[in-house]
Amino acid sequence: MQTKLSTKYQNQNLKSTHFDCIVVGAGIVGAATAYKLQLKHPAKSIALLEKEAKIGMHQTGRNSGVIHSGIYYTPDSYKAKNCRMGREQIVAFAKKYKIPYNVCGKIIVVTKNSELKALENIYLRGIENKTPGIRYLDSEEIKKKEPFIEGIKAIFVPSAGIIDYVAVNVKLASLISKINPKSKLITSCKYFQTKQDGAKKTVITSNGNFSTEKIIFCTGLQSDRNAAKDQASMNLQIIGFRGDYYEFRPKSRHKIKSLVYPVPDPKFPFLGVHFTKMIDENVECGPNAVFSFAREGYTKTSFNFKDTWEALSFKGTWKLFFKFWRKGLDEYKRAFSKRLFVKELQKLMPKLETTDVTPCEPGIRAQAIDSNGEMVDDFKIVTKDGITHVLNAPSPAATACLAIADEIVEVALIYSK
Ligand SMILES: Cc1cc2nc3c(=O)[nH]c(=O)nc-3n(C[C@H](O)[C@H](O)[C@H](O)COP(=O)(O)OP(=O)(O)OC[C@H]3O[C@@H](n4cnc5c(N)ncnc54)[C@H](O)[C@@H]3O)c2cc1C
Repeated sequence: MQTKLSTKYQNQNLKSTHFDCIVVGAGIVGAATAYKLQLKHPAKSIALLEKEAKIGMHQTGRNSGVIHSGIYYTPDSYKAKNCRMGREQIVAFAKKYKIPYNVCGKIIVVTKNSELKALENIYLRGIENKTPGIRYLDSEEIKKKEPFIEGIKAIFVPSAGIIDYVAVNVKLASLISKINPKSKLITSCKYFQTKQDGAKKTVITSNGNFSTEKIIFCTGLQSDRNAAKDQASMNLQIIGFRGDYYEFRPKSRHKIKSLVYPVPDPKFPFLGVHFTKMIDENVECGPNAVFSFAREGYTKTSFNFKDTWEALSFKGTWKLFFKFWRKGLDEYKRAFSKRLFVKELQKLMPKLETTDVTPCEPGIRAQAIDSNGEMVDDFKIVTKDGITHVLNAPSPAATACLAIADEIVEVALIYSK
């Protein structure tokens, strides 16, 4: 990777504070990476840089809060492997640090005969993925678990659960300075550029400059842009897919006991709108998936010229639109119509009423797309000359963060012993 330095910084005398390693982006993947690196190399100083004033402001703080079981993923993919190992690690971490979680299990429900084959495929994949304890439920067993859900068959997945991901994120970030007091989380610190002089690197940020030997980027929705500065974007572009949610009004919360999912469309990487009993007892329904005109804009009409221009001038985006135009259109209609959104949920819960739910905060998924319009399914990490970029860390990266962090520390070949 060859870093291109903007002319603005080329001739500056860059005075800087030294850290042995800089991790850019303090979402759950960056914080887990800094933590695992610090555990492995306690004497090394690490700076974890975050552009926002608080951590957990983007994907990590706006997700469904589900500990995924790993049942769906292609066997032997990074997703399957890291989801399984990450799930075990995050539950152990939550137990150790008293972070609220509940391995309550989930059901994947079939509501019409035409979905039975797809359910069977998920079951077989679960067996291949060694997803523990999965079993079929008939309609009576579904009713016993979830009295308001109408289904003809389901898979019960006991290892899925819920957790407070922001609490995990905050804990991970705080642990690095507990292990090594020289390490620091630095917020309100936006990464701009790297100036490279042999092995020595100067990281230029909104909050001063830092010299270092190793840099790891875990910047979610901005990951392709930071990678492009190092010519490491690999012909991928991040497209933001907004996920809108509704939440149950308190009077209706009793209608859901744990997690209820439909059978997902296997051509689409998203799981379909589902019901989630969150760790705070709230029940959320969603998320849908619509193209976002602003990567970090959290209203239905948010618009950012740069984000939109870059997305629409990438040929992969158009190929993707062309492939999924029908589904995309339906999702858009649901984004603007509560009635249609509820109608989708009524497939699982026919007695759900529009008055049961009210809109709540959306999230935006960072999904890498290649120039053929394919959504990059697996996690993607590239590393060269002491600089590592996490280019694709979509769901279940929150579940898998501690295992992905092991992988990053491994592939980045951070320090010899
Ligand atoms: C709607 C939705 C639902 C989801 N549901 C689940 C779920 O239930 N379970 C699950 O396991 N996963 C889920 N996911 C996926 C999961 O949330 C993400 O995969 C995970 O949070 C990614 O973490 P991250 O650290 O890579 O990204 P983020 O949390 O987005 O963090 C990236 C950080 O980098 C910072 N940053 C960016 N650019 C710079 C810069 N130049 N300088 C400094 N800092 C910078 C950002 O401010 C941000 O804080 C969901 C995602 C969404 C959006």
